[in-house]
Amino acid sequence: MNGYQHLFIPGPTNVPEPVRQAMNLPMEDMRAPDFPGFVTGLLTDLKKAYRMETGRVFVFPSSGTGAWESAIQNTLQPGDKVLMSRFGQFSLLWVDMAERLGLDVELCEVDWGKGVPLDDYARILAADTDHKIKAVFATQNETATGVTSDIAGVRAALDACDHPAMLFVDGVSSIASIEFEMEKWGVDLAVSGSQKGFMLPAGLGILGVSEKALEANKALAGSGMARCYFSFEDMIKLNDTGYFPYTPATQLLRGLRCSLDMLLETGMESVWARHHRLAGGVRAAVAAWDGCELVAHGPEWASDTVSAIYVPQGVDARDVISGAYYKYQTSLGTGLNKLMGKAFRIGHLGSLNPVMLCGAISAAEMALVDAGAQIVPGSGVAAAQAHFRDTTPATVAAP
Ligand code: PLP
Repeated sequence: MNGYQHLFIPGPTNVPEPVRQAMNLPMEDMRAPDFPGFVTGLLTDLKKAYRMETGRVFVFPSSGTGAWESAIQNTLQPGDKVLMSRFGQFSLLWVDMAERLGLDVELCEVDWGKGVPLDDYARILAADTDHKIKAVFATQNETATGVTSDIAGVRAALDACDHPAMLFVDGVSSIASIEFEMEKWGVDLAVSGSQKGFMLPAGLGILGVSEKALEANKALAGSGMARCYFSFEDMIKLNDTGYFPYTPATQLLRGLRCSLDMLLETGMESVWARHHRLAGGVRAAVAAWDGCELVAHGPEWASDTVSAIYVPQGVDARDVISGAYYKYQTSLGTGLNKLMGKAFRIGHLGSLNPVMLCGAISAAEMALVDAGAQIVPGSGVAAAQAHFRDTTPATVAAP
């Protein structure tokens, strides 16, 4: 009767109807003789979304955090030195995990609003002539601040000094949404989850692993960090037969089959272009709102999957979010950690189109005015409309 409660948080994202239908099926036998055909095809096609021909993709019944943990436990040893940077809630949590798992973290602190500091990385790597640093970590898309980092630039920094460290990338809110090139960029471990660009419920941790990272795992020969549930060795043994070492989330896997088909039929380049166009509409709206600005420090950092938006001085972003939720049936993303109360977020990834986003912008605009912001009602929607009218979709029927 009240229509949908609209979801514009940066994950979980909207699940397209065909994907929802693909998951609506009776329980199935995960040891059936024909199950391997399904699993093998799925893992092979996931590599296409990751843009890799060699290596492997693992799918864990976990969220993205499980894939973070698996990447570390299976390729590094306690005490190993790693290079990381912290510029938002998710890069912060990855650093916390690395430290709790016993890694020796060399940390670059960065202003929230910028991303991976390429110059610092290049300097630190060049100075590490005896190659003590075993891995370099980069959060490609910091979901808390709406900042995208240059992963090709991190690869270039490694290559410039012939550094052999592995490259770990958090692609939870970027893979299957914005440009990601596992093989071209020489990424060794790439973490994702089901509930963002893959347009599924939460529940799958997806991990791309290069040949080099598989070799690092082999070299541990079962030693290194304790691991069990997330063990590469166990997963490889069973995946090679087309099964899993424990009960797989079969419905999510069927949904993933459907969403992957949609993504690959559309073409990854078109998916990336669609997100760029959608993000442009939100950025145009923010520019039109007096006193609001992106948390991202400039267009070079602004993410195509999520915008974190500072509210004007004197306005509490929590009022904007709760107003949008209760009065306009629209969920906006909250400001995380030090952005709490200062910023709200609009997720623009997954199954979305311009008219849906104009709805989100309209709800945000009404809630901003209700919360005391001196913005001109309609100004953001008008700016977004102009952007969408002036740009054309990469494909007519995007997922
Ligand atoms: N990394 C990033 C960039 C994220 O956005 C998230 C979740 O939003 C995570 C990691 C953690 O993933 P999950 O909540 O699926 O465990």
